[in-house]
Amino acid sequence: MAARQLIHANFPEPVNPIAPRSAWVAVDLARLASNFRRIRAELAPGVRLLHVVKDDAYGLGAPEAAAVALANGATDLAVYTLGEAAALRGAGIRAPILLLGEREPCEFAACRDLDLVPTIGSIANALAWDRLAGESRRRLPVHVKINTGMNRFGFPWREAALWSAELAAFGNLEIAGAFGHFAQSDEIDKTFARVQLANFKEAVDALARAGIRPACLHHANSGGFLDLPESHLGMVRVGILPLGVYPSQVCRRLDGLEPVLSVRARIIAIQPVATGDTVGYGMRWTAPRPGRVGVLPMGYGDGFPRVRNEGNALVRGHRVPIVGGVTMDALMVDLTEVPVVAIGDEAVLMGRQGAEEITVHELAALKRSVSYDILVSWRSRLPRIYHR
Ligand SMILES: *Cc1c(COP(=O)(O)O)cnc(C)c1O
Repeated sequence: MAARQLIHANFPEPVNPIAPRSAWVAVDLARLASNFRRIRAELAPGVRLLHVVKDDAYGLGAPEAAAVALANGATDLAVYTLGEAAALRGAGIRAPILLLGEREPCEFAACRDLDLVPTIGSIANALAWDRLAGESRRRLPVHVKINTGMNRFGFPWREAALWSAELAAFGNLEIAGAFGHFAQSDEIDKTFARVQLANFKEAVDALARAGIRPACLHHANSGGFLDLPESHLGMVRVGILPLGVYPSQVCRRLDGLEPVLSVRARIIAIQPVATGDTVGYGMRWTAPRPGRVGVLPMGYGDGFPRVRNEGNALVRGHRVPIVGGVTMDALMVDLTEVPVVAIGDEAVLMGRQGAEEITVHELAALKRSVSYDILVSWRSRLPRIYHR
C-alpha cells in the first residue's frame, strides 16, 4: 500500500465574519461604478439612464447596485414588484422609481405613498389611477406602456388613436412618459426591432394628436442601447449590461466593461480515490486512475445547475472537471491534474482565476438557459460579499 498522502490545509480568515460560509458571491462595486461611467459616456448628454434593479438587481443586491448606479450617471431606477420598490425606499433611495409590468388597482395607494411611477397599460388602470389622483388632490405621474410587438404588457399600438383619445379625457393623470419594449434587440437581425420602433413612433404620434406629449420616451434595453442608437430617445433602461454581462453573444462589445459578479468557494474536503472508485449519488463517475477528488460546499441548493459529469471549476488557475452529480449542498471536482492543492484553496465557479474564466454564458449553456437566468439563480443563502 502506498504511503498515506498528507493533505495540507490552509484556512484563511472567514470572508463574512458574521455568518462565515466558505461559498459566496463576490460583488465588485468599483467595477459596477466604472461600467456605469462607461455606459454613460455612450449616451448623449440629455438622455436619462435608468438602471433596472428588479429581482435584487439580477442577484447583485438592489440597494447596493442602486446606490452605485445613481452615483455614477444613472438617473432613474425600475423594479417589478411593490416589495422591491419598498425595499429601495426603505434603504433611503429617493431617485425616481418606475414600476414595470402591469399593476392591479389595489396596488395604487401604495404606489402613491412610496412615490413610485407605475406603468399603465389599460384604460381600466388609467381610470383607477386618475381617480386616486383626484382623491389625493394632485396630479400623479404614470408612464404609458405601448405594446409595439412584444405582446406582453401595454396598450396595443394599432389601436393608438382609440386609447389616446380615451386617455386624454383623464384630468388628474400626468402622463410623464411612454415606452415600449423590444422582443429582440441583441441578435444580428434588427428587422423586427426596427418595426417595433416604427410602431412606437406611430403610437406616440397618435398620443400627440390627442394632445398628450409625454416628456420621456423610451424603448431601449441593454441590447437596444448597444446596437440601436436610434432607440435611445429620452432614456435607456439597462439591467444586465452594467453587471458587465452582455445580453447576447453577438451584440456590440464596449471596451472596458468588466464582469461585476463572481461565485467562489473554498475546497472543504479532499478524498483520495483509487481506480474504479465511484463518486456521489448514483455512483455516476468512476475514477479512471488513482487521484484526488475535491469537495466544494456549493450545490444546486445555492443555484448551481444540477448537472452531472459536466461543467468546471477553476482551482489554482487550472480548469478542473465536475465529477458525479451536483448535490444540494456540495459538488465534487477531479483535482488529480492539479500538481499542488490544499484544503482551503479558493475555487471559482463563475468568473476569472489567473488566465482562465468561466463566463455566465458558459454556465447558461450548461443549464440550457440564458445568462439572465444564471445571474438571478444564485440563492440568498450564498452571502454577497461587496468589494468597494
Ligand atoms: C428587464 C427589463 C429591462 C432590462 O433588460 P436588460 O436586457 O437586462 O437590459 C428593460 N425594460 C424592461 C421592460 C424590462 O422588463
